Amino acid sequence: MSMRNVSATSPVVLVIAGTDSSGGAGLVRDIATMTALNVEVACAVTAVTAQTDQRVSAVLCLSPEMVQQQIHDAFATRHIAAVKIGMLGNAAIVQAVALALQQHDDVPVILDPVLLSSSGGVLLDAAGVDALMSQLLPRVTLLTPNLPELHYLTAGYAAQTSLEQRARYLIKQGVQAVLVKGGHAEPHADEVVDMLVTVQTCIPMAASRLPVQRRGTGCTLASAIAASLARGSDLIAACQQGRQVVLAYLQGAE
Ligand code: PLP
Repeated sequence: MSMRNVSATSPVVLVIAGTDSSGGAGLVRDIATMTALNVEVACAVTAVTAQTDQRVSAVLCLSPEMVQQQIHDAFATRHIAAVKIGMLGNAAIVQAVALALQQHDDVPVILDPVLLSSSGGVLLDAAGVDALMSQLLPRVTLLTPNLPELHYLTAGYAAQTSLEQRARYLIKQGVQAVLVKGGHAEPHADEVVDMLVTVQTCIPMAASRLPVQRRGTGCTLASAIAASLARGSDLIAACQQGRQVVLAYLQGAE
């Protein structure tokens, strides 16, 4: 009997992320999303968290050396087609990730700026946010903030500054593109409008709002986009495919 070698044909995404013991978000969600999309996962764990859906009980950040070594060994072993970054925890880890990725500047990087859990637990401290802005953003192909994250990362701007202007500020910091997730806007509106902003364009992407909430949507979206990029899609197609995957994930909770 011949055995098919799946890894010979499936692209590999390196996920740099934290674990969530409840399984609702983080690395487990990333692996589930990518496996369903026939993409293999290499991983560098940044932090271990104990969580329920209601609270973050404990966070243990790994050492920056350990994070860097995992990234190094993942690249040494597999052909990495894309990198997806989630929870980073602290500034030392942000810096370690930025340094480790310097040697691989041809690989697209999707960064979900994980700052808080839905329950309000801090998943990246303030110094970590500064390091993310100054050291990691210039290496990022696509940033996927939700509205609170976008406002936090552009806090210097006046309240009435448009979402597109805020995204363009992040592009000036070095990120190539920003997908602003509209899910937190006007909870009673019929539509959710995400917005893909690049140097050249600003593309609104609208969908009907589903009457459900589910943890892990941010992880699912960024993972699905990374999987599509790893499979060779362009950025616009990858964002559209990622949004379809989130829709199906939310429909699974209805
Ligand atoms: N915990 C971990 C380890 C995460 O990586 C994330 C998001 O990426 C979260 C929690 C936040 O997920 P949620 O907003 O669904 O609580």
